[in-house]
Amino acid sequence: MYRKMLVLRFSAETTGEPIVCNLSRDFNLCFNILRAQIVPGEEGIMVLEISGNKRDVIRGLSYLRAKSVTIKPVEREIRKNNDICIQCGACTGICPTKALSINRQTMEVLFDPKLCTACEMCVSICPVKAMEIRFSKELMPYL
Ligand code: SF4
Ligand code: SF4
Repeated sequence: MYRKMLVLRFSAETTGEPIVCNLSRDFNLCFNILRAQIVPGEEGIMVLEISGNKRDVIRGLSYLRAKSVTIKPVEREIRKNNDICIQCGACTGICPTKALSINRQTMEVLFDPKLCTACEMCVSICPVKAMEIRFSKELMPYL
């Protein structure tokens, strides 16, 4: 599964078209709209996450560009809040890249951001919400 979080800007001419719905219908993509300011006939903006196989995502992005939609990728990163982590280890079993691991001598749970792919699996499993998602500053005005 390939995922991209994007900020899309629509021209006044295209805000009335079902462009995002077509991503699902014509390109087999799933989308999750996080924020939208769309008024038909005016410029619009949308923050959304799309997911699907890589080829379909690339095709979908080409479709958006062909529709004159401006696309800006949103970067995000995962951080471990050591102030609230209770070292339970639950996240280490689910992390697919071994970015989270246990130091067997100290039993401390370690996080290596270089190995993290921001899949977010640890975010939902952590009982105290110690694994946090941070978005790039570019996204902040829209959230
Ligand atoms: S976001 Fe995914 S890859 Fe990164 S630490 Fe969490 S589970 Fe591992
Ligand atoms: S699941 Fe949460 S509390 Fe448990 S070790 Fe991982 S980050 Fe810490």
